[in-house]
Amino acid sequence: MKEYTIQSLNCGLTIRDTSQTAYMLNPGVPHNLPVISYYITDGYEKIIVDTGGTPADGKSHMYYAQAEDETLEKQLEKIGVDPKDVHTVIFTHLHWDHCANNHIFPNAKFYAQKEELRYAAAPIELHRKYYDPHILFQTTYEFLDKDSEIMEGINVLFTPGHSPGSQSILVDTRDGIYAIPGDLVTIMEQWEATPKIPNGLHVDLISFSESLNRLSRACDHILPSHDPRTLAEKIYPQEKETLVI
Ligand SMILES: [Zn+2]
Repeated sequence: MKEYTIQSLNCGLTIRDTSQTAYMLNPGVPHNLPVISYYITDGYEKIIVDTGGTPADGKSHMYYAQAEDETLEKQLEKIGVDPKDVHTVIFTHLHWDHCANNHIFPNAKFYAQKEELRYAAAPIELHRKYYDPHILFQTTYEFLDKDSEIMEGINVLFTPGHSPGSQSILVDTRDGIYAIPGDLVTIMEQWEATPKIPNGLHVDLISFSESLNRLSRACDHILPSHDPRTLAEKIYPQEKETLVI
C-alpha cells in the first residue's frame, strides 16, 4: 500500500446556515465554515485536491473572507511547496469555492468528473450561483467517468448527490484509507449521524444517501470539506510521537 500524507490548507472562511450544510439541521443557526484545499504527497508526487474560492474581491457568490496569508499560494509557501511542482489537481466538484485558483498550477493536469462539467455548463437556475463560468472554462480538464484510479494509491469514488458529478478522493496512507469527500460531507455532524445526513444543497437525495453509504464502506477516515476539525491536525495521518530516551 502506498503511504501518502495529507495536509489541509486553510483558504478562508464562509458563513452558511447550518441547514444548508446538513439537510434540515438547525435552520436559522449560522455556521462558520473554513474553505479548505488539500496537499497530498508521498515525498515524490505532489497532488492538490480542490483549489479554494474566488478571491475576496466582493464578487464572490457568498460571504467569503480571506486573510492575506490564506491564499492558496501563501498556504503552499508556508509548507514549502512550489505550485509549479504540482502535476496533479483533482476536484471533488466544481462549485466556486473548490476550483477558483487553478491558474497558479501551470504544470498540472486537472481531473474532474465528465458529468460535473456537463452540469456546470448548464445548471438549473437555482444552482447557477454555485458555478462561475469565468473560472470554470479557463481550465482544460482530464475527464473522469465514474470510479477511477488517478495513480497508485490515489483513487476517486463517484459519489453524486450534492452535485451530479461529485466525487470523493481516496488516499492510501500508513493508517488506512482517508477520504476527501468534498461537499458530500461538509461538516462532521453529517457523517456522525445515524442515518448519515445529506448536505442541504443537493440535486438528488436518494443518490446522495447511496453515496454516503458507499463512501462509508470505502474509507477508514474522513476529512469533511468545511469543518474546522479538518484543520485540527497539521498532517494526516498524525505523526507518531517520537520517544525521547
Ligand atoms: Zn459544493
